[in-house]
Amino acid sequence: MISVDEALQNLFDLAPDLAVEHVPLARAGGRILAQPCHARRMQPPFAASAMDGYALDAGAAQTGASFEVIGEAAAGHAFDGTVGPGQAVRIFTGAPVPEGASMVVLQEYCQRDGARVTITGTPDGASNIRPAGSDFQLGDSLPAPRRLSPMDVALLAAMNIAQVPVARRPVVALISTGDELVMPGETPGPDQIIASNTFGLAAMLQTYGAETRILPIARDNLEALQLAFSLAQGADVIVTIGGASVGDHDLVAKAGAALGVRQSFYKVSMRPGKPLMAGRLGQSVVLGLPGNPVSAMVCGYVFLLPMLRKMAGLPAAHGPTRRAPLLAPLGANGARTHYMRAHVTPEGITAFARQDSALLRVLAEANALVIRPIGDPPRAVGEMLEYMPFESE
Ligand code: AMP
Ligand code: MG
Repeated sequence: MISVDEALQNLFDLAPDLAVEHVPLARAGGRILAQPCHARRMQPPFAASAMDGYALDAGAAQTGASFEVIGEAAAGHAFDGTVGPGQAVRIFTGAPVPEGASMVVLQEYCQRDGARVTITGTPDGASNIRPAGSDFQLGDSLPAPRRLSPMDVALLAAMNIAQVPVARRPVVALISTGDELVMPGETPGPDQIIASNTFGLAAMLQTYGAETRILPIARDNLEALQLAFSLAQGADVIVTIGGASVGDHDLVAKAGAALGVRQSFYKVSMRPGKPLMAGRLGQSVVLGLPGNPVSAMVCGYVFLLPMLRKMAGLPAAHGPTRRAPLLAPLGANGARTHYMRAHVTPEGITAFARQDSALLRVLAEANALVIRPIGDPPRAVGEMLEYMPFESE
């Protein structure tokens, strides 16, 4: 049995790099930028007014001073001339500041009378001009790798980058296994249950940006499992769910081996999720998740998402964690890393009393996993504990 860190490192070693593709900017949000992008222009491309007002020589901007208004500059419509002594140009936000002007006096400080304007207020000394290139210069870069936020996309647009190099979306095939399973919407027999893991994992993966392929449920026999593996071919990652323990009907490893899956590890020292298996089949990484719904989902967060991040070029690291004060005491942890379902609020974190790995309702109420290292001593209220938030990517 290996540790969580060792298992993660194994998965990082197994995971192939995803190719780079170019996508239109409108589709780039949330994708992983694969190469740095360089601004194809500077912004603003000219000294621009930051306010609506009057552009004039800053040296003449005294209360009571009066100017001849010789023209207008609006966004997209420059004033084609020079502002001389005693002159001003009516100007609007985003317009190029005309030659000869070094300040924009806010219209609130001015009184207009026909072709003349008088400064009636007391300008605060701000030029109200955005210098050319004050946002970014030609060639300035947005570094990679990074997950593109909405703000990044806005910046790329301003840099005039219409096609964005991103990591290809990983294709993840999901195979539920078990004679007891039926798909949601079907009518289960008296001894059957609904396959829930496939759909929970698909939702997790889709939120992350992966393409998912939900395959038909594989029954607990070698033929069905081998057929499922063959249908999954071509996926970057093949995730099997269930059938990974040591029971008579746990045949996933056997079926995989018959097809040539090279196993990298089996069993991780963690709770929930011990019977985790990983290997390779051709170009695909095979990840065998435990069948218990909570185990499958927790392993998705702890292993699958970090591996996909690494495949997309992001750093090979476990999921982001934070720390919060404990709101209810916890007993000592045992010999496996425990990912406890918990609820975190601005005040602190509470682990749920019921931690059985079959309880989906508890999992759905949780928004975090408290991470208890191997041999962690009892913890008192107020102690700071590490946790993994669910909402983070
Ligand atoms: P197994 O690892 O196949 O022994 O499954 C462990 C437990 O998880 C059993 O109670 C299964 O019925 C359940 N289980 C396995 N796969 C799924 C699934 N896709 N959705 C919901 N429960 C599952
Ligand atoms: Mg099973």
